[in-house]
Amino acid sequence: MGYPKEIHKKAFDELEARRRRANETAQRHRQEVLQKAPEVAVIDRQLSATALSVARAVLDENEHIEELIKGLRLKNLDLQKRRAALLTQAGFPADYTDIHYTCSRCQDRGYVGSRMCECLHSLQRQLAHAALCEQSAMTGCKFSTFQLQFYPDEIDSRLRVNLRRHMEEVLVYCQNYASGFSLSSPSVLMQGKTGLGKTHLSLAIASDVLEKGFGVIYMSAQNLLSKIERERFSREQNGDFDTFSMICDADLLILDDLGAEFSTQFTVSAIYNIINSRILSGKPTIINTNLTLSELKDRYTERVISRLMGTYDVLSFYGIDIRQLKRR
Ligand SMILES: [Zn+2]
Repeated sequence: MGYPKEIHKKAFDELEARRRRANETAQRHRQEVLQKAPEVAVIDRQLSATALSVARAVLDENEHIEELIKGLRLKNLDLQKRRAALLTQAGFPADYTDIHYTCSRCQDRGYVGSRMCECLHSLQRQLAHAALCEQSAMTGCKFSTFQLQFYPDEIDSRLRVNLRRHMEEVLVYCQNYASGFSLSSPSVLMQGKTGLGKTHLSLAIASDVLEKGFGVIYMSAQNLLSKIERERFSREQNGDFDTFSMICDADLLILDDLGAEFSTQFTVSAIYNIINSRILSGKPTIINTNLTLSELKDRYTERVISRLMGTYDVLSFYGIDIRQLKRR
């Protein structure tokens, strides 16, 4: 699944920490046991000796190998039984010194053979969620909390549409987009004045798409561009954390508030590269902007706009600034 590399790394760090904790706990338990039942150490030495003998018998191609291994296996079983009895006598559970992994299927390695384990999938989902909440600093932006009653139930004389009904269609579009999301979903441009719900609906999409197990990156254009610019001009570039390739890899990229960033030649060409690379890789992108189409054209040049218009679904947001309405 196309999670950003940062999420991958965090997930593997977490798995490693789980393995370490499991090993340390087992070691600690063994020390506790040895204090009460020192004979366990003798049995453990004998157990390692039988394991070694089996390995040696196989390597030597001993002619009585089957009998030999059978004997060693019986001895091993007997030792384990005696070990469990010693533990129980000393008041411990029989498996007290075993290594107890968080996930017994993959022993906290994240893979079973070449297949990714479900524990790693869900770990990545959780981490992506956490990263999303961190970046947006917004919670509760779900479809169910989107309030249509803030949009006037009247026909706008200039636009000649009923504003609430129009926004209801926008909401339904976004809900369908999220529930039917796939890598071949279209890209979307959400366009309209500030405070009309663009961020709310794109966060709701992000949350549902993440829930389905896709990799989503949600960033404001300003943060993203300054991150890319910092990396570009810093000497300590780290290949693993190259933001540009990270956003090209994401299953869904949501670029919030395009146009709010400080505009330079660098940001204009970076935006073109991002939009173009995402189109070339065939992966969907959602862009939110307060700018009108002609303002976009002035800022990002004709070639950016023709890329957008040729491939993006455009959603227009109409109404009255909801933040102001709520304040009243
Ligand atoms: Zn697992």
